[in-house]
Amino acid sequence: MLSLVDVTSNIIDREAFASCTNDYTRIKQLLSSSDFVSHLQKSLPLLLDERTTDSKCIKTSNEYREKGNAAYASHNDQLALLLYNQAIRYAPPYSRELSLALGNRSAVLSNLKHYQLALQDVHHALDFLSSNEEDDTRRQRLEQRLYQCLKHQSEEAESNRDKHTQLENELTELKSNQTYNANYSSLTSHADIKYASDRGRHVVSSNVSSTLKPGTIILVEQAYASVLLPSAWSTHCHTCLRRLHLLLFVCSQCTRAVYCSSECLQRSIVWHAFECRLTIDRLDKMQFLALRLLTKTGWQYLLKHKLQFEDYLKQDQPVNNGLHSYNQEQEVYEWNDYENILKLETNSHRRSVDDLLHRAVQACLIGISLINNTSFAQQAYENLDYQVYICSLLLSHLQSLPCNAHEISEFIHHRAAPLSSSCIEIGAGIYATLSLFNHSCNPNVIRNFIGDTVVVRLLASISSNNVELTDNYGCLSATMEKVERQKKLHEQYRFQCQCQPCVDQWPNYDQLPEGLGDGMTPSKEFDEAFQRLVQGESPTRDDLSVYEDFIDQCDQQWQDKKKIKGKVYNNAQEAYKQCLNFFYHSFHSED
Ligand SMILES: [Zn+2]
Ligand SMILES: [Zn+2]
Ligand SMILES: [Zn+2]
Repeated sequence: MLSLVDVTSNIIDREAFASCTNDYTRIKQLLSSSDFVSHLQKSLPLLLDERTTDSKCIKTSNEYREKGNAAYASHNDQLALLLYNQAIRYAPPYSRELSLALGNRSAVLSNLKHYQLALQDVHHALDFLSSNEEDDTRRQRLEQRLYQCLKHQSEEAESNRDKHTQLENELTELKSNQTYNANYSSLTSHADIKYASDRGRHVVSSNVSSTLKPGTIILVEQAYASVLLPSAWSTHCHTCLRRLHLLLFVCSQCTRAVYCSSECLQRSIVWHAFECRLTIDRLDKMQFLALRLLTKTGWQYLLKHKLQFEDYLKQDQPVNNGLHSYNQEQEVYEWNDYENILKLETNSHRRSVDDLLHRAVQACLIGISLINNTSFAQQAYENLDYQVYICSLLLSHLQSLPCNAHEISEFIHHRAAPLSSSCIEIGAGIYATLSLFNHSCNPNVIRNFIGDTVVVRLLASISSNNVELTDNYGCLSATMEKVERQKKLHEQYRFQCQCQPCVDQWPNYDQLPEGLGDGMTPSKEFDEAFQRLVQGESPTRDDLSVYEDFIDQCDQQWQDKKKIKGKVYNNAQEAYKQCLNFFYHSFHSED
């Protein structure tokens, strides 16, 4: 994927590139070579969407609509809705097919008592009618439906009761119920950021007056930018990454971008207008996210801050040790400040020349495609200075994203086999504050996602200030051997893990002592809740507090943190995670 390095290796002055000491000069060196640029120009069509594979298609739209009609005729409204959604997704803008599909969908929505949504569709369908006999008949039918929908509006279906709305409401409430850290807008008052030369910026406990119990909320943060994996393009909203349940709004130009609401469609216009012209399916998720960082931030903002951001890109080994940014008047570290994303660790100095060269070539291809194939930054067209700036921002992101971006997942609950329920990756996001958590193979926090908003909670009790709060980057000491963990962490995140399980050679789950150890016995409540979970029953909210209390009890008793805890403690943490996913994570139920 996008590997130009092999083809360009004989035209790149590798020695000159190797002598570059920062991202700005690396890109400048490449883009100043006319051989390289002319090769790059030839490769640009790679990323230009010629509207061959992905374009709207009347035939496909008609096929979906006809299948939808068949489902509607056999009273399968849910299936008909899904099929009409697809018919709308494939219908060309302002076409007769779009009007037909919208009209048919309004009938299903009306049957399902979603009168508000049906009304929207009727209005849209009416917009595209012309004045011929066939359309006159349709107009009459649509106007009748309009009248019916208005009449029944008060009987609107109670969609408020479903689990997703409940999740959203809880998230809103949870957000407003926290007290936040005065300097870091997404951290709660129970956490703070510290800097140490060997740990970089990291998160520690703060304001601990009485023990913080498992479940205590540490961070609530929306992604600065997030993208969906292609496998989720037709099932999840392109903007907020929530699963599409009822209604599908689509980009009028392509079939890739679908939205849960007209608000999400509106919000995406800023960046999707450019991405729509590019074959983003040729990019991997980190390349796509790097591109999104620029399209979402926008050229106007980047241009305004060009001098200060270039200053940063020209530093050989930037040290991010404080919270204060260039923007001196803004003292609070905000989730939506691009500068905080730009200044995340890139590990440039730990990368090989080949690694840097590979990423620099990718950055040039993506950056120049964005400039030449879209109207993103028209001033940069044939302006080397602007081109170097845009591509070096991309080079910085292409290094920092693999170390800092987070997988965004959805909990797939299997009704028939609940124990096989698990979190499935749907996309990736970059978070200004979440990225500051260091890793441990035995973490004390857990992440849950609702759309692209993350909530971080304690997984263990914390009884004093300045205890480092650690996340897990996908390598747990219970399930993975030390050699394997160290290898993976070094390859992707460029560090040697020095966490307690790594230093003290903790055994993995199979070799852990049975029971709890120390002559302790689990509570009856815990045993019962755990048995129910193992037997496949869905957890209850009460189970959440049973696990929290049990983990808290164990942690309080074992003040000696070096102690290896037995299998039962591990089971309790795993059961607790499963419960949190069940209640507080984006959720999809399957048979
Ligand atoms: Zn959405
Ligand atoms: Zn589009
Ligand atoms: Zn470790």
